[in-house]
Amino acid sequence: GKRSDVEFDPKDLKLTFSAIKILGSRYLIKDPETGRFIETPQMLFRRVSRAIATQEYKYCIQQNNNEDLCKDRVKYWEELFYELLSDQRFLPNSPTLMNAGTKLGILSACFVIPVRDSIVTPDGEGIYDAVRAQAIIFQQGGGTGFDFSELRPEGDIVSTTGGIASGPLSFMRMFDVNTEVIKQGGKRRGANMGVLHVWHADIEKFIDAKSGQLKDVNLQNFNISVGAYDYFIEAVMNGGSIPLINPRKTNLRRDLGNNSKFYAITRARHYLYEDWVQEVIINELESKGGSIWLDETILLTIDEAMIIAQEEKAIVGYVNAKKLFEKIVRNAWDSGDPGLLFIDTINRRHPVWYLGKINATNPCGEQPLLPWESCNLGSINLEKYVEYDEYGKPRIAWQRLAEDIRVIVRFMDNIIDVAKWPLPQLEEAVKRTRKIGIGVMGWHHMLIKLGIPYDSADALYLAYYLAEWIEYNAALASIELARERGAFPAYDPDKYRPTWLSAKPLEELLAIASIDAKPSKFILELLSSRPQIDWNTVEVLRRKYGIRNAALTSIAPTGTISIIANASPSIEPIFAVAFERHVTVGKFIEVDPLFLEYLRKYELDSPELIEEIARRGSISDIPYMPRTIKLLFKGALDIDPKWHVLHQAVWQQWVCAGVSKTVNLRFEATVDDVRNVYLLAWMLGCKGITVYRDKSKAQQVIYVGVKM
Ligand code: UDP
Repeated sequence: GKRSDVEFDPKDLKLTFSAIKILGSRYLIKDPETGRFIETPQMLFRRVSRAIATQEYKYCIQQNNNEDLCKDRVKYWEELFYELLSDQRFLPNSPTLMNAGTKLGILSACFVIPVRDSIVTPDGEGIYDAVRAQAIIFQQGGGTGFDFSELRPEGDIVSTTGGIASGPLSFMRMFDVNTEVIKQGGKRRGANMGVLHVWHADIEKFIDAKSGQLKDVNLQNFNISVGAYDYFIEAVMNGGSIPLINPRKTNLRRDLGNNSKFYAITRARHYLYEDWVQEVIINELESKGGSIWLDETILLTIDEAMIIAQEEKAIVGYVNAKKLFEKIVRNAWDSGDPGLLFIDTINRRHPVWYLGKINATNPCGEQPLLPWESCNLGSINLEKYVEYDEYGKPRIAWQRLAEDIRVIVRFMDNIIDVAKWPLPQLEEAVKRTRKIGIGVMGWHHMLIKLGIPYDSADALYLAYYLAEWIEYNAALASIELARERGAFPAYDPDKYRPTWLSAKPLEELLAIASIDAKPSKFILELLSSRPQIDWNTVEVLRRKYGIRNAALTSIAPTGTISIIANASPSIEPIFAVAFERHVTVGKFIEVDPLFLEYLRKYELDSPELIEEIARRGSISDIPYMPRTIKLLFKGALDIDPKWHVLHQAVWQQWVCAGVSKTVNLRFEATVDDVRNVYLLAWMLGCKGITVYRDKSKAQQVIYVGVKM
């Protein structure tokens, strides 16, 4: 019978089969009774653009009180938004595509929910409050991250009942089952990040929770990461032990009343084990005139904190740092879990660090967030910004990219107001900082079009310059918005720590990774075509007008939206030029569109060859494959892990939030490889790291971002 009650727009015919299949399975609106589509892809892009543009009216009417003018303005932005989306130059994250303009109100993909050491608390932050929040967020397609470090360890006492505590791991199982149950009613399967900080008494159990016999059984809806502090990695490298703490026993743990000490106490509790605490707190004291922060318990060095913890009997043991780290890397080699989150790097570079400490990220790691915060994501399709001159030589449309970013920042800022927040804490937290997460997709495709191999210094040079360009233009746009709409409410011009002031120089990163290749002539030419950047002016403008969004950029995995846009995902290398993709709706063979173009150019595009390539999964040992194709189309598994980490680290320099990246390893990779990747990531200033060794799990989607 007829599957659809609507006519397809000719523009829809440009979408790939996979794109239409995915859109049809979850995104396009169907008539609930007949099950037929009442929406085409173009109608979806229209619905989203319109819903997000309506916000313009609210801002406009406040300032102009002229209905006609404001209606025109809405129309104007709606068209610009629609053009971006329908042209696939930019797509917002799935929840926006699914929910904007419908009854469901969540438009963001990323959430972090606090979990206090209580069954429930009056302010809704206990364990079961978190389970409830998780269900509500999943129902509408968001993903949740949790730090479980405040929970007392297994076997500890429960004073109210005289019983014994079950510990973070057993509570995590409940969050996992909750995910399993809700997925049936929800738009897509929920994903979780579970974090335990390295000082927690149950850390070894946590590290083992998804490996060995447990790997295809336990916590299947969780990515898990160890919250790793600098002192831990330093102890790994220099030898020595770290103390294990029972969080219930430390004196700094007090009931969290809503007085001004709230942040001081939570921060102290967490900062306790970091040695940069003093610098931060002293800065804080100075800027606050030394008032509410004058709590002597805060002014502790790590050594002092350890002495107190010992006196309190909060230290329940010691563990050799190297041994613990070996357990981590062995398990990551075995099953992909746990990853690491570099808590100090995250907080050192957190623009609004003065609001509290970040202890967790969303499921895929691109969003380190404060408790209850969320962030909407959207990704620029970089491939669309490669143009060709009259001789067919490729170049980058820098200016066009800058203009689009201006529109995108507006679009993303509007989303925060258009969204309907199902819990008051979520709305409060997100509106305090108005973080947005602009990311990219089609990075490897862009490199291919420019003729630059992924595993080359040239690629890193371009990444660095391009990431800076995106951050620069996003910052300018957000400052411009602040001038029009005001800075984000928690903005403090003196304390705000702009990302652009702490980017490491590229040369430093290359030296750490022992890459001594110089940029080619072509890349220097490409870079010099980029318009001038002047960060000093940005700083002057920021001080004058403020900034609308506390964070601007974030590299998401783009698991689904890259399929819709037919782009290589995120900043990842293509997985393979032809492969089988498994998703809930079925499995199919996909050939990379640029690869097909190249095969045609060399007259090699026979179906037999493509089938053979899909079977082998790689072109590296097909003898008659031209060298250029082999270099440009190296898949994720053919690329040395070091280059994976370098791409992540280089992008991270200009990204306010985090970078979601999976370092894909071959099946034959060793534990040493994993260890090297984890340590290199820390040295290069990444905010976290995850690996996935091919075939290390029974079931794998081609790409961890795609958990449909
Ligand atoms: N996410 C989720 N469930 C999923 C896939 C993603 O909750 O099945 C969340 C998660 O927080 C992730 C974020 O969405 O980090 C962005 O993922 P991705 O970029 O792959 O999403 P897309 O917008 O492409 O669907």
